[in-house]
Amino acid sequence: MRRIAAALMLPASLSACASVDATQDNRPAMVAPVLTSADASDPFSYARPQEARVTRVDLDLALDFATKTVSGTATLDVLAKPGTNAVVLDSKGLEIRSVTDLTTGTPRPLVVTAARRDDDKGSPVVVGFGPGPEKRRIAIAYTAPAGAEALQWLAPEQTAGKVHPFLFSQGQPTLNRTWIPTQDSPGIRQTWRARITAPKPLTVVMSGLKVGETEDLGDRRAFTFEMTKPVAPYLIAIAAGDIAFQALGPRTGVWAEPATLKAAAYETADTEKMVAVAEKLYGPYRWGRYDMIVLPPAFPYGGMENPTLTFLTPTFIAGDRSLNGLVAHELAHSWSGNLVTNANWADSWLNEGVTSYFENRIVEALYGPRRARQEAALSFADMETDIAEAGATNPETALHLPEGVAGPEAGLTGVIYDKGAVFMRTIEQTVGRTRFDDWLRQWFDNHAFQPATSAMILEDLNRNLVRGDTALANRLMLEDWIYKPGIPANAAQPDPAAFAEVDAAAARYAAGDATPEAAWVGWTTAERMRFMAKVPQDRSATQLASLDRALGLSRTGNNEVLFLWLKLALANRYDPALPLAERFLSTVGRRKFVAPLFETLMGEGEWGRAQAKRIYAKTRSSYHAVTSSAVDKVLAGGK
Ligand SMILES: [Zn+2]
Repeated sequence: MRRIAAALMLPASLSACASVDATQDNRPAMVAPVLTSADASDPFSYARPQEARVTRVDLDLALDFATKTVSGTATLDVLAKPGTNAVVLDSKGLEIRSVTDLTTGTPRPLVVTAARRDDDKGSPVVVGFGPGPEKRRIAIAYTAPAGAEALQWLAPEQTAGKVHPFLFSQGQPTLNRTWIPTQDSPGIRQTWRARITAPKPLTVVMSGLKVGETEDLGDRRAFTFEMTKPVAPYLIAIAAGDIAFQALGPRTGVWAEPATLKAAAYETADTEKMVAVAEKLYGPYRWGRYDMIVLPPAFPYGGMENPTLTFLTPTFIAGDRSLNGLVAHELAHSWSGNLVTNANWADSWLNEGVTSYFENRIVEALYGPRRARQEAALSFADMETDIAEAGATNPETALHLPEGVAGPEAGLTGVIYDKGAVFMRTIEQTVGRTRFDDWLRQWFDNHAFQPATSAMILEDLNRNLVRGDTALANRLMLEDWIYKPGIPANAAQPDPAAFAEVDAAAARYAAGDATPEAAWVGWTTAERMRFMAKVPQDRSATQLASLDRALGLSRTGNNEVLFLWLKLALANRYDPALPLAERFLSTVGRRKFVAPLFETLMGEGEWGRAQAKRIYAKTRSSYHAVTSSAVDKVLAGGK
């Protein structure tokens, strides 16, 4: 997930929750503070939390699949600074019918000023409640109309079962304001509760624990969920469809369409073990259950770490668990991302980079160092590629995105994810694993349920790891890593042996030798991906046909390998791959695959541009806004 840039203030201690550890699920919700430090300021929200901030959201909503709308009420608890007369919320396209003050026993209508700005941020909704007590309660009656960008309403044909429609949301980074009127900024943590009605036989799931029994309302049912931990509002998520559940362990399980459930359960079978491994590394899992839902292929991301219910693309199902690092990644976000959250999108490396490192540690603990080192080496190469393409002095290659790097989707994955992970690995290798793990664990413990910034982690590293050791500070180069572009000289290098065999095979193939089909059969997914990246990218139709024949690329059930094959084929204007590429782009909505394939086509002259436009005309309406907005830019000639 690519993110933003923004102006970020430096340190100042965050006045977040004083209480740190909430391992008990029945523990009462913490009350978030009224005021936040400058760290939590977010240029991509209209909220003014220093004056009045939302601490709790209570939703009562009905899903309407015919009109593709969500309607009902959001009741907000607000903490207001004395003398504050209004609270500012974020909205993008919401139709607000009324706002009622419920602070006292007598409800009264409130005046709302919703300035329509219609930019990426949406519009500020100013609810004037006049003078009164510190704790306010307001009820907003509203509709999220068709076209709300967070929500994707799938027709039955877009599901595996083909009979019932499906709905899912994707809130990160700034899309939840299209269906929930709240302060939509990652530093403004909120507890929430939601009662959702949906037509039978659809089941609703959310990123919170289910409360009570499902209510039978005739042709509809109501489901209630609750999140008692304060979370960043982008983590409120919903899915509804014809889905079934399979337990994987005492606190883990997976939801999917019935047709997909068996394969989903096989692929996620190690999840309970992953939770145990993660806890052993960096402390207790604080969210109660860890369930997942495998969504239809239109889901725009690989995964989304919605608390208690990770959302997953079905494209990670390879039949051999070789892509289940995705589950390790989303699980790791239960610490880096959901527990300690980037205060705004200029620091999304704190979510993604730390998580990518953590993911690799889970993979290592469960599957051994060989797979972990290979995956780390692939990630290192991705970092090098992205930074080389952007230019090593490009400010966008710093972990902390500087002011002036535009928009909620800025930032390179090779930097935010991969350079962030290499930074963590560099510290680990410099100070030793035990010392590093102790530091990272205390970072999670001491910042649990709080927003964090680059300045805060730097300060913490200096205080708890460097401890005045100047020689160590020089070796670590912490500020270079966080604030300077490019790859610092002390970067932990990937294991040179990780791909020795594959690289040698690729070199022989490039020099004219036969395709290494015998070796290919025994290679890991990472090795196959490495080979596809290392083969000469300029191939004739005859060479591509023989490569495909030898390695069975068109028939692979591994979508990462299939993607690399399609990219190579399209980059060489290889007509025989077009039907498969079109089929892939018509079913899969994962941006990581879709946008680069269109980009490849657009780089191939009139041949490719014509194909890109023809295919996109058919597929655009099947994509989530996250994906279609990226492809729109590709077809418009931008990046
Ligand atoms: Zn992630």
